[in-house]
Order: sequence, then C-alpha cells, then structure tokens
Amino acid sequence: MDNAEQMWFRPEVVALPSYVPGKADPHAIKLASNETPFPTLPQVQAVLQSISGSFNRYPDMFAGDLVADIAALHEWPDDGIVVGNGSTSLIEKILQAVVIPGGEVILPWRSFEAYPIAIQAAGGVPVTVALTRECAHDLRAMIKAMSPRTRAIMVCSPNNPTGVSLTHTELAAFLAEIPRSIPVVLDEAYVHFVGMEDPVDSRSLLLEHENLIVLRTFSKAYGMAGLRCGYALAHPAMASGLRAIATPFGVNAVAQAAARAALRSQSEVAAQVDVIKEERAKLLAALAAQGWWVPGSQSNFLWFEFGAQSTRFEEICLGNGITVRRFGDEGVRVSVAEPAGSLRLLRSLEQFRDEFANRS
Ligand SMILES: *Cc1c(COP(=O)(O)O)cnc(C)c1O
Repeated sequence: MDNAEQMWFRPEVVALPSYVPGKADPHAIKLASNETPFPTLPQVQAVLQSISGSFNRYPDMFAGDLVADIAALHEWPDDGIVVGNGSTSLIEKILQAVVIPGGEVILPWRSFEAYPIAIQAAGGVPVTVALTRECAHDLRAMIKAMSPRTRAIMVCSPNNPTGVSLTHTELAAFLAEIPRSIPVVLDEAYVHFVGMEDPVDSRSLLLEHENLIVLRTFSKAYGMAGLRCGYALAHPAMASGLRAIATPFGVNAVAQAAARAALRSQSEVAAQVDVIKEERAKLLAALAAQGWWVPGSQSNFLWFEFGAQSTRFEEICLGNGITVRRFGDEGVRVSVAEPAGSLRLLRSLEQFRDEFANRS
C-alpha cells in the first residue's frame, strides 16, 4: 500500500496529517466541533423550506446577491469580497494562490488543524511558532520567523483550540511590522464570541493593510456548519487574485440563499451568542471554584492542557455522555453549548481529578 501511495501522490501529500472530525455519538451531547447548540435559525429554515424548483441550473457563480448583503453588513466594496464552500476552502485557495513550491507559511501552533494540511497541500512548508504559556499567539516570535522565503502568515483570533484572542492594539502593531509583500490571513471564525476590552476591529485594519485577508464563516455563530459557506474580505486587488482560482460554482444555491437569510437574522444571532457567552462565564466560574486553570477563552470552547492524561479525560467525558475533541497528548477542547453539556463536563472534571488524586 505504502508503495502505491508513494507512486501516485506527491511526497508532501503522503506525509499529510489527517483532519480529525469531532466524534458523533448519537447518545452523547456533541461538544467536539464548536457548533452552535441552537436549531437552524428560523429565517434560514423558512428559506430552506421554500427554495425549490431550479436546481437543474448552476448557481450564481459569484454569488452576487450574497456578496451584496455581505458588502452592506461590513460597509466593504463588493469586489473586495470572495465567498467559498466554507472558510476552510478559502484557506486552501488563498494558500494555493500565494505559496510557491517550498515557500514558507508562518502559523501559530497549536492552532486550526486545517492550516498545516492546506499549507503542505499547496506545496508550502509550515513554519510553526509555539504559543505563549498563556496559549496566545507569540507575535514577536512570529515576526522573527519571517525569512526571504515567507509567502504568507496565518493568524487565528480567537485561536482554535485555545480560545485566546488578540487585542486590536497587539494585532495593529504586528501588522505594521509585516512587509506588504507578505499576505496575512486573519481567521475570525469565532469573532462573534469575543467580549473583551480592545477587541480587534478587522475592518479598520483592512483599510490600512492591502496585504490583509479577513476570513469569516457561517459555520459557527450563524449555525450553518452543515450548509458550508464562508467569505473573505480583502482589498479588491487581493480579492481578484483569489477569485481567479476559485472553484467555479463553489458555493451551492441552497447555501447562498441560506447565508442571506442568516445575515438577516442578526438580532437572533446576537441573542444566541449572548446565551453562549453567559454559559461560558458560568463554566469559567465553576472551573475556578474547582481549582482548574484554563486560558481566558473569547470563543465558544475551552481548552484543557492535560498532556499525557488527555486520553483518559476524553474517555471520562464519553462515559459521562459528552464527546470532546482531543489533540494528541496535548490537550482537550470542549465546546460551550447547552447547559446539560456543561454539567456533564464539570462532573467529568471532578471524576478526573478524583482519579488522579487517588493515584498519588
Ligand atoms: C470552524 C473554523 C473555521 C470555519 O470552517 P468552515 O469551513 O467555514 O466550516 C475556520 N477557521 C477556524 C479556526 C475554525 O475553527
């Protein structure tokens, strides 16, 4: 088998780490993929029920109506917006567009597991920069990692899986030090859940930096992970390069219509986000009361750095009826979702602590 793979595929493809989807166990509450626990937004459901009839036709290739709605929301020109089949596909396309063979892409690590896969699939070399002890981007070290071979820099704020967010001041100072020849991808998949002082204002950063690409998704706060739609905001010159290699008809007609309905649902989305933020605050308080340290999450998930004990913790969680996402022997990411899930998480943590306390 190995031999056949080596004959068929490029060496960097054979060596790719695989993306691990969150476990789906019908009897457990799923806290493994950072989805919203709420049912599909009413306006999206209404559109899904009413849309019919013309699927023999290709969708609008450039999703003009959806792009116009996104442009209105962000007060950003239409020709500076690119939509994709989830923002993950935009990450792939951006890297395909800018990475030359052997070119380097700087990324924080640990971060979104799709990044190293997409970088290597594009023929690039991931240059990982370890997070700080507080699980934040080490921006100074990322600047030091730049070389004449750097083709792009990935920034994920709030960072998946640690939940830590950059401040506007930090990110603005960072961008000021990056030459405009190097594209910077700012992945804001979880931006709705940020509730901190000095939050990143990506629009004002975009106005100043023509090498910046901001990524948003309908998969998280908008509750459309199953429909696949995301978008990029950038200067028109950057956006047109991305559009040039976009998958033709990459966003299907159903996703386009649903995304427009989601954009019309801002007040429901804001209310749901508030519920999650409250749940997060409650959980963080309960964790502190139990004596656990977790990084200050600005997202809809928490990060437990349990190292070699991560596997055992994952088992305990499953035993208590929640699926969580373990990253090797580094840690476990748990989504903040329904209160029943939080109770099961707290129960799992108590059991985990008791087990290890009894052992020593
Ligand atoms: C979930 C997520 C995305 C969004 O992916 P989609 O392809 O739009 O579903 C992007 N970036 C990060 C860091 C994520 O966690």
